[in-house]
Amino acid sequence: MMRRISVFGSTGSIGENTLDLLTPGAVSIVALTGGRQVDRLAAQARRFDADLAVTAHPECYRALKEALSGTRTEVAAGPEAVAEAADRQADWVMSAIVGAAGLLPGMRALVHGSTLALANKESLVTAGAVLMSAAARHGATILPVDSEHSAVFQALTGEDPAGVERVILTASGGPFRTWPAERMARATPAEAVAHPNWAMGRRISVDSASMFNKALELIETREFFGFDPDRIEVIVHPQSIVHALVGFRDGGLMAHLGPADMRHAIGYALNWPRRDHLPVARLDLARLAQLTFEAPDEARFPALRLARAVMEMRGLSGAVFNAAKEVALDHFLAGGVGFADMAAIVDTVLDRLSGEMRLTTAVLTLEDVVAMDHIARRTTEDTVHHRQWQR
Ligand code: NAD
Ligand code: MG
Repeated sequence: MMRRISVFGSTGSIGENTLDLLTPGAVSIVALTGGRQVDRLAAQARRFDADLAVTAHPECYRALKEALSGTRTEVAAGPEAVAEAADRQADWVMSAIVGAAGLLPGMRALVHGSTLALANKESLVTAGAVLMSAAARHGATILPVDSEHSAVFQALTGEDPAGVERVILTASGGPFRTWPAERMARATPAEAVAHPNWAMGRRISVDSASMFNKALELIETREFFGFDPDRIEVIVHPQSIVHALVGFRDGGLMAHLGPADMRHAIGYALNWPRRDHLPVARLDLARLAQLTFEAPDEARFPALRLARAVMEMRGLSGAVFNAAKEVALDHFLAGGVGFADMAAIVDTVLDRLSGEMRLTTAVLTLEDVVAMDHIARRTTEDTVHHRQWQR
């Protein structure tokens, strides 16, 4: 039987890279979901003869329906329809919606015991404990698709976790790696989006510039692999060739190297546990000539320090951290707050809600997480509107 595959967020950067690795006719596409890029979504659904295509926006239903007329593809719209698409049994599901909106579809896909390829790091940051226990309960497999986490996963294959001393995530340092703090504070969205090494969606590109992306990845590492926070490090590596390293108790360090191409991590999750050919460039080490490393500057990138606090608190603090970051990012992209304000806003919101955050993960439910996500978004809006920020 053909492998049944669904791609959530198929019109995005990860989604398109995922479809790029699949061959029409060789797989059975159960569902594709996207947002307002109706033409792109329709073209994908036609190319793969998908059973179902869903846009997250009800007002886009008509256009999608028309674009798919004459095909057998079913069309649906709205957030609920996106989540329902995950109720359709698939063998392999790519979770590549950006933001907290990716949590619910991923959770619902796990119920079938499917393999969930998880690009949506926000799922682990906001609801790591819930997600991991649901996977265990339903016999589902979660495979990390973030390049650093795929690298750690690969370095750990065949190893006893008890032998691990530390995990080191690399960070490119983004476009502002060498900028002084005063210049960073005045950075525009266009400057923040211009990532030196990776072609990614707009939001994750800004998160890379502020290192909120690495902050999310620290929490993601803690939640997915279960290592203690003091064993998880970040090192700035401007070439983005080494994606992560795992250090063992005997002092040995296993590094994962590859070009900055997400199709490696996606393809690894697609073929796992096999290693099949992937159409990614092979590294020419002599041409690269050098790989450099430097310590991250937590004064200019306070998101890293905030992530450390969340890794210790756990509970609902990840949901607060992520929601506050998403809202602050919206305001930055809209020109309402400055670049450096984003971390200051998240810090304030974490502080304001720290009394309400449940510190134990044992009783966490998806409902708790969703409720806290809403509270944190309102608190962030309130924080943004009742203070004078730089812009
Ligand atoms: P993107 O912005 O390019 O694409 C996002 C996708 O999600 C699109 O299909 C969009 O239509 C959909 N979407 C957005 N908002 C939605 C909503 N509210 N409901 C339903 N669908 C919605 O983003 P991306 O760069 O592909 O990133 C996707 C995820 O993968 C993110 O969680 C990101 O952190 C993670 N990730 C991306 C990369 C990368 O290289 N792009 C690397 C590692 C991890
Ligand atoms: Mg990453």
